[in-house]
Amino acid sequence: LLGPDGTIAATIFAEMSALATRTGAINLGQGFPDEDGPAEVLDAAREAISTGINQYPPGRGMPVLREAIAAHQLRFRGITVDPEREVLVTAGATEALAATILALVQAGDEVVTFEPFYDSYGAIIGLANGIHRTVPLRAPDFQPDLDDLRAAITDRTRLVIVNTPHNPTGSVFGIEVLQLIIELAHRHDAIIVTDEVYEHLVFEAKHVPIATLPGGRERTITISSGGKTFSTTGWKIGWLTAPPELVTAVLAVKQFLTYVNGAPFQPAIAVGLGLPDSFFTSAADTLRAKRDLLSSGLMDAGFTVSLPQAGYFVVADAAPLGHPDAVAFCRSLPALAGVVGVPITAFVHEDRRHEYASLVRFAYCKRTSVLEDAVARLAQLS
Ligand code: PMP
Ligand code: GLN
Repeated sequence: LLGPDGTIAATIFAEMSALATRTGAINLGQGFPDEDGPAEVLDAAREAISTGINQYPPGRGMPVLREAIAAHQLRFRGITVDPEREVLVTAGATEALAATILALVQAGDEVVTFEPFYDSYGAIIGLANGIHRTVPLRAPDFQPDLDDLRAAITDRTRLVIVNTPHNPTGSVFGIEVLQLIIELAHRHDAIIVTDEVYEHLVFEAKHVPIATLPGGRERTITISSGGKTFSTTGWKIGWLTAPPELVTAVLAVKQFLTYVNGAPFQPAIAVGLGLPDSFFTSAADTLRAKRDLLSSGLMDAGFTVSLPQAGYFVVADAAPLGHPDAVAFCRSLPALAGVVGVPITAFVHEDRRHEYASLVRFAYCKRTSVLEDAVARLAQLS
């Protein structure tokens, strides 16, 4: 985490957002929406502040939010969770992941993730002194190979961290992959952690929560967040659902990380989780149109594009445009075309970087006019 001179290495998202600010380029790097989410949710936060919900909430989260999370799990997943014992509210999915890994991983334990992986996984596995093993996801469909999975998950594995829908590739794992993960977790007594922050932003594919499959629930910690679904990434309201003893273990760590978080935002996210089905489907439909706009613009500009099935991001190969090194390409892209993207190598270990060297992640969770402007700028590359 520290650079050779003892300074903290900025996350790739902070570096690329700073580059966008410095150059005035369109920021398709860091994944955050540039429009507000549903008015009901924003109004509920204002209401909470003005009615005095401004002090420490309970350690597991406010009852109104834990009940809304349980109702959401029942409505969208058909599973009953106990809001008293099986739900924990966290400071974003980020803290849910950190507290889970720190609670469950002892020095030397192996943690399996897919690769490319969301950057915080590698950092927290490192803080826990765990050993990070990965299963590669390869273009064009970015689905794991079943034999690679069998080889990676062993008796040394403590956690398997699944991320579906996947950041950065936009893939949605197939049911046979999820079933095999459950089978291997049982065989090797591993715990499954699933990061499903993009659960509602799914296009053609069907998102199957691993906890809904036979044998999954009893050894799975399911993590999500209000940031993506309600376009409130700055509120940092996340949560996890899991069997009671796993929630208790994670809470033991969470209480010393943030203790509690976001009192007035908790009832507001509860309002969001209770919105009608039409809100969730229209959020996905709106985002699908943005995906199509940016993806076709990238193809027209000469990139090879793997069409994402979900989430905020599209992966584009810059090699056909004569840019084999995506890190160098992303650093020069503001000057070349006035756009910022993130090299996929930021989500990959050193020894595998060559396999992903020319791939760039672009975010399409932006206003249509901004995407149209970005597409026009990218057209200059061809
Ligand atoms: N996991 C994944 C896969 C993400 O893309 C993100 C960030 N968007 C997070 C976790 C962090 O979520 P949060 O902002 O709720 O902490
Ligand atoms: N999850 C967002 C992304 O992948 C960024 C979150 C962050 O900056 N840590 O772009």
